[in-house]
Order: sequence, then C-alpha cells, then structure tokens
Amino acid sequence: MKEYKGTFASEGLVMAPIYRPARQALGLGRVVHAPSQERALFDDAVVLAKDELIRLQQRAVGEQKDILLFQQELLDDHALLSEVGDYIAAGAGSAAAVERAGLIFARALEQVDDAYIRLRSTDVLDACRRVVEILDGTPRGEMKMTRPSILVAEQVLPSDILTAEPGMLLGIACSGGSTQSHASIIAGVMGIPAVVGLGPAFWEAAEDGALLVLDAETNSVVLDPNEAVQQTVAERLERQAALSSQYAWLRAAPCRTIDGTPVRLLANCSGPQDIEAAIALGADGVGLLRSEFMMMTGEFPDEEEQYRFYVDCLHAAKGRPVTVRTFDLGADKQAEGINEPEENPALGLRGVRLCLARPDIFHTQLCALLRASAEGPLRVMFPMVSGVEDWRDAMACVATAKAALRSRGARFQEGLVFGSMIEIPSAALTARELAAQGCGFFSIGTNDLVQYTHAADRMVPGVAHYYRQDSLAVQRLIGMTVEAAKEADIPVCICGQTASDPELAAEYVRRGLHMLSVTGNRLLKVKKALLELELPPEESRPVPPRMAVEE
Ligand code: PEP
Ligand code: MG
Repeated sequence: MKEYKGTFASEGLVMAPIYRPARQALGLGRVVHAPSQERALFDDAVVLAKDELIRLQQRAVGEQKDILLFQQELLDDHALLSEVGDYIAAGAGSAAAVERAGLIFARALEQVDDAYIRLRSTDVLDACRRVVEILDGTPRGEMKMTRPSILVAEQVLPSDILTAEPGMLLGIACSGGSTQSHASIIAGVMGIPAVVGLGPAFWEAAEDGALLVLDAETNSVVLDPNEAVQQTVAERLERQAALSSQYAWLRAAPCRTIDGTPVRLLANCSGPQDIEAAIALGADGVGLLRSEFMMMTGEFPDEEEQYRFYVDCLHAAKGRPVTVRTFDLGADKQAEGINEPEENPALGLRGVRLCLARPDIFHTQLCALLRASAEGPLRVMFPMVSGVEDWRDAMACVATAKAALRSRGARFQEGLVFGSMIEIPSAALTARELAAQGCGFFSIGTNDLVQYTHAADRMVPGVAHYYRQDSLAVQRLIGMTVEAAKEADIPVCICGQTASDPELAAEYVRRGLHMLSVTGNRLLKVKKALLELELPPEESRPVPPRMAVEE
C-alpha cells in the first residue's frame, strides 16, 4: 500500500481498479516516402481526424463541445499546417512532422502569459496525436474499459474522457496535469472525481488492474489499499450514498429556512445544457448566464444564432427567469480578434467597457437579446459597470437597438428589465445613483468585487491571502448595495462564487440577502444549509429587499 499526494481537479471519492490505456508505440520511424506522397498522406489523415472530432462533438455537451471544436479548427490552422509542410519538404515523414510541429506549438502556448491560452497546449497535443495515430494505422479507438475503472495517465487528453462508455469511467488520476487543465474542467462538468499532479513515482508504480482509492477531498490516491483502508473507504462511500439519496428530496423541497423565510436559489450557467441540469436540481431560474462563453471558441455568432441560443436557454429554464449577462470579455476571458493585448487586463478594457468600445458587437447582442425577450422571462445585466456613466452609455446602446428593431418590425418586449452587476467598488458606492438612473436590479459579483476591493488579482496564487472573500470592506460594499436596492425597491442577488459556499450563503441570508445564484453542482449543498438555518425572530432581522423583478 502506498499513498501519493496530488492536486485537486474534481470532487469525489472512488475505489476501483486502474485502467491504463495502452498507447501504441508510434511508428515515427517508418519508411519515408517522397515529400509529395508524405504531404498527401498527411492531408488525408487530417480529414479523417477532423471527421473523428466532428463525430465526438455530436455526443459532447457544453464546454466539451467547445474543446473539440477548437481541436477541429486547429487542424485547419494555417501556421500549424505550414510548419508541418516545411518539415515534410525538408525530408521528414508525415507522422514525425506532425508530432514535431505539435510539440513546438504546444510548448509555445505553454509560455504564453495567459492561463486560458496555456490550457490550449494540451489540445494541440491531443489533436496532433490524433493525426499521428491515423498516419500510423492505429487510429484512436474509444477507451475500451471492460469494467468500471479509474483512468491512470500521465496526462489525460480531453477527447479521451469523452470516448469512455458511460458508467465505466469512475475517476481520473494523472501523474501530470493541473487543476486548470481542460481535462480537469471536463471531469468536473461530468462529475468524475479527479486528482492530478501525482508525480512520476505514481506513474511508475500504478499498474493496470491494481486497486486504487482516489480521494479528491485529501487530494491523494492510495495504491493497493490494505483491508483497513478498503473498509474505511467503503463506509465513507456508503455514508455518501445515503447522503445523496437524502439530497434527492431536496430537489423538490421549497427553499425556506427553518422559520419559513423563503430564499430564492438561482443557478449560474453557460448554456441550455447546464440550465436544464440546474432546473432539474430545483433551481428557481438562472441568476447569471455567462454569455461570453459562446464567443471564446473563436466564432462570433451572428444576431440570428445568438437569438436562437437565448431562446433555447429560455426553453431550457421551463418558464423560470433567465438573467443573461452581456459579454464580459477581457482579463482571463479572451476572445481572439476582439481582445487586444494589455499591460494589466484586469483593469483594462473588459466587460461593458469593451462592449462600449465595440458598439458593433454590443448592438448585435442587444438586438438578439431584445428579440429573445419576446419569448420568455428574460433579464439582461451589464458586467463591470463602474458607475452611472457606464450605465447611461449602455442604456443609450439599448435605445439604439430598440429603434433598429422597431424599424425592422421585429418583435421585442418594450419593458425588458436591465440590471447591473455590482463587482467594482465604485459601483457599490454609487448603487443608489445607479438605481435612480433606472437600473432594474443588482447582481453582486463577489469574484471581482473582492479582487478590486483588495487589489488582489484573482488569477495570481501569490496574492491569494489578500483575496479576502468576506472581509469587513467587502461586507460594507455589499451592505451599501443591499440598502440602495431596498430604498429603490429593486431586487438584489449575489452571483459570485461566495454564494456557492454553504456557510457563506447562510451568512448572507442571515444578513438579509435572500436571493443567491450558485454553481449548479453546489445547489443542493447550499439549499441543505439554508433549510437548516434558523433566523432570529422577525423583529430583530433585517428587512430583505424585494425578491423578483415582477413582484
Ligand atoms: C463575479 O465577478 O463574481 C462574477 C460572477 O463574474 P465572473 O466570475 O464571470 O467575472
Ligand atoms: Mg465578474
């Protein structure tokens, strides 16, 4: 028995045999034909690889689709293709040329000072490896697990996870990789426990078929656990199973504290699939739809495509309100062709500032949103509003979009309610003025509010101790926002990650904030904490602000 420590990637505990996919030795040393023949072989392999990726996309959901689409598009990338072409022209075999170009591209991406782009390096390796395998005559098969297992690899390629048969892939343990890697993100979305960065010694020792305990709570794995460990894990798994069946009734239960105070629990989502999942878990609607995710694949959906996307989101929410945040691009959310390199992107042209600087993009989104508002209970809010000037400018763009739709005879809801994210201290400090300008609701984004209040970049681990989520300063800014909402009789919600923490969520409710928007997979945990919360007698409690736009 031996324990290895790693880094958290996706929640859960699992005990199962190891599955180590046999990666065939690549035949990079096979006979090399004339460059023209090698080029033709390469071109054919790229077509086949793209076909495989298209097939995989058909059964992928949400972010998985984006990753596969990125890989498909990469195989059309001019720079990559000409790099491969140059190696072939210089006498390399096609497989060796792709392998080499892929490694160079991936290394270059790993050096980029942008976490999102760095993530893409694994995708470059994944897509190029797919082409190499086709050239070798050993195209990537589906993961053939004969029993439910834990996948052990040096680094899991994102598309590998998607080929596992449902129910067979119980966990992922990687000797390399990082929490931020796409494979970790996909594991999280699919609810598969994962620990990464377990180190080369683990990779050496972990044999196919050996029993492994993977515990994402302690970020560790135990290889060949002894009887006592197996017994303890089995008991923990039993308790968890009991707890999850206990959670099942929670879905339908109304969200009320012990004394009967209602709390509106909404979900943070990025598209129809996770909206459907959140509604199935009992969410009262969508408190934050991060619309910018649709722009981060490198595609710019036109008005019609965006309109259909928003209408699909409304349908997925089954009549419950959907709050769409207009594009919040910039900082760690870069869209190629839109964001320019900046010295200090967190303080740069992001969120509504970028939209105001690019009225073409903003106008298209506003027209699509206004049209979708005719189809269901939509709300729209602007990110990174710094004060009334931004609000007025954004609403002037709304007026222009409405005028354009009127002249086209397009249907939209005249009274569509617009609100503002409160995620910059200046917005919290002037929340009263924002409400006086007609802001229809506030949504407090604590992720950014905390970073801007404490001048602690949320992407820099070295200043994490300054990133104080519930400091007195942050509490005061939230308190001012809530007071302004009460005075103006408009709703206010918290949609930052802090609301997904059951203890903090309960604390917010105690302080009189009764509308929270949380990450889908935290919904039931937060709800459970609220159902167990007892508020003091009514006369000694703060009066909550209004709970919904239409009340
Ligand atoms: C926030 O800042 O709290 C928020 C919800 O926005 P994002 O995390 O997308 O910046
Ligand atoms: Mg934010």
